[in-house]
Amino acid sequence: HKPRYGETEKVRTTCSYCGVGCQMHLHIKDNRVQRITGADTAPNNGSLCVKGRFGYDFIHSEERLTHPLIREKDGFRKVSWDEALKKIADHFTKIKLQDGPDKMGVLVSARMTNEDNYIAQKFARTVLKTNNIDHCARLCHASTVAGLAASFGSGAMTNPIADIENARVILVTGSNTTETHPVLSGFIKRAVKFNKARLIVIDPRQITLTRFAEKWLRPEPGTNVAWINGLMHVILKENLHDPDFIRQRTIDFDKLKKSLEPYTPEYVASLTGIKEKALIETARIYAAGAPSSIIYCMGITQHSSGTDNVKALANLAMLCGYMGIEGGGVNPLRGQNNVQGACDMGGLPNVYPGYKPVTDPVVRADMEKAWQVADLSPIPGMTVTEMIPAAAEKKIKSLYIIGENPMVSDPDIGHVKKCLKNLDLLVVQDIFMTETGKLAHVVLPATCFAEKNGTFTNTERRIQRIRKAVSPPGNALGDWQIICRLAGQMGMGMSYKNSREIMDEIASVTPSYAGVTYERLEEKGIHWPCPQKDHPGTPILHQETFTNGKGVFHAIEFRVPAEETCPEYPLILTTGRLLYQYHTGTMTMKTAGLNEIAPESHIEISSEDAQNAGLRDGEIAELSSRRGMVTARISISPKAVNGTVFMPFHYARAAANVLTNTALDPVAKIPELKVCAVKLRNIKPS
Ligand code: SF4
Repeated sequence: HKPRYGETEKVRTTCSYCGVGCQMHLHIKDNRVQRITGADTAPNNGSLCVKGRFGYDFIHSEERLTHPLIREKDGFRKVSWDEALKKIADHFTKIKLQDGPDKMGVLVSARMTNEDNYIAQKFARTVLKTNNIDHCARLCHASTVAGLAASFGSGAMTNPIADIENARVILVTGSNTTETHPVLSGFIKRAVKFNKARLIVIDPRQITLTRFAEKWLRPEPGTNVAWINGLMHVILKENLHDPDFIRQRTIDFDKLKKSLEPYTPEYVASLTGIKEKALIETARIYAAGAPSSIIYCMGITQHSSGTDNVKALANLAMLCGYMGIEGGGVNPLRGQNNVQGACDMGGLPNVYPGYKPVTDPVVRADMEKAWQVADLSPIPGMTVTEMIPAAAEKKIKSLYIIGENPMVSDPDIGHVKKCLKNLDLLVVQDIFMTETGKLAHVVLPATCFAEKNGTFTNTERRIQRIRKAVSPPGNALGDWQIICRLAGQMGMGMSYKNSREIMDEIASVTPSYAGVTYERLEEKGIHWPCPQKDHPGTPILHQETFTNGKGVFHAIEFRVPAEETCPEYPLILTTGRLLYQYHTGTMTMKTAGLNEIAPESHIEISSEDAQNAGLRDGEIAELSSRRGMVTARISISPKAVNGTVFMPFHYARAAANVLTNTALDPVAKIPELKVCAVKLRNIKPS
């Protein structure tokens, strides 16, 4: 039934904010979203958080991009699609011939659908002929993908969201769940309240979940490996581990055991500040869980030791045999609506869809056959954190940035700006004129989630439909349509009738999505791996066997963060998210109600540190690091621990990432966004 003018229609879709992937109804009248309500199905069972329910003003915002734009002097000129795409196509073709394909790069997006991401990586690999393709997972969970893949053979959340309620013990670390994954935090709270689950929170900040916790440990930022090794030291010493599981399902236990010997509670206390008794009691609680679930987020991953932190958590879960069972597992909470899918689709420099390595000649030959092309590049491409700095030295000459905003999200923004300005061609494809778009030579207007069909894969690996509910503004086009038209301009045929046809191709080249069809996704989605058309999907991973057979223990040594405090920079800065804003604010900052509650950046600080600096709540102060300086309002909060200040990273003004460190994890190349040394200056006139 097509509603007539004035009638209301309800369109079921998936929230486009965080990785929980709540199911919702868009209520449409006269081609406008009037309100949003939760759909009474998994994963959210009717619940929505404030962003999902009320943060939709961006869809019909007057500020939406409606036409392609080409830079002219200090401004932009509205142009036709043909003119914009010809300019880009001519440039890419010239660079490809003159300098080689690897002088170009593509940043895809966790905001886009699986279908958009698949087409974008196919474009980079088959049209541009480079593996220089990456996306913001590099900044949030690259260390999860690397760490869990090394331990379990698969880098994703092991258990589904609803399964949290089956856990006897829940260990939450580095996740401010009530603000970053609000609906998922309801599962934790319900498990504690109604199922008597025991909650352990390990986090330097006094986050809301500490109110529900039996144990709250407050480690110094950047000391994760030390306390995780400490827990395992106690578990082994007290014989609380699971020898049968270790013998039957894992390898390299002896290496782990030896490496844990030095991590006595006394030594761990000296590294982390966690009292010995608290560490011992926490180890006993976790080991007594049967099952215990580990939930973590960017407090674990955004470190120069991010991959080590993830491997250490995987060690802990395997040590107690909590893998492959209901209520157990190691559960990274993926941040964005489709960050899991963007990785699955091969929006990464080293793998094709389904994590198949670009360096494997057999895999490459298969992909060449499937895509009917020759000469796919065998060289792994650069990561986001390598491509942008490479622009400074002209090692990258053009970037095609789709749905990302590195001018707010990436570390050391001052340097990011210099690099982007050094490009011969910067193309930005987005729904708004972002801080990054303002530096572009060409800006392309894309459609938002309410204007397109496709799929997102949420944090629990559930592939879910999104459905077109309203028409796009002006001449905006879907991301995959734009990319296909650009490929056409470059003389390469990439044409698809619709997103369904793209999903059929994804299924044909991605083993974990092989059984997926739009028909099968209609009601509740499917958890990958889903290898055949009659396979029900896999809510719990690693039940009989790990992806590569046995789980692998890793001996991990504690390393200090890349930057430590010193007399000049005596405080630690850590960054994170707020309930009322989302990432770089491009979407949530279009909703007046959300802006009223969380209008600007702030520096969260303990009362003691504020007093030492002579600052009162609400006063403006200057915070600087070795990379830059911002001024923002002081917010004295019991959440803050002495010696550490916190800033949200959503805001372009007083952007926290002006200060953050670009030091990288050597394996995952994720920057150390969670720890840098800063100094605070009172700028009140004396
Ligand atoms: Fe959307 Fe996440 Fe909120 Fe659910 S919890 S409504 S997915 S932002």
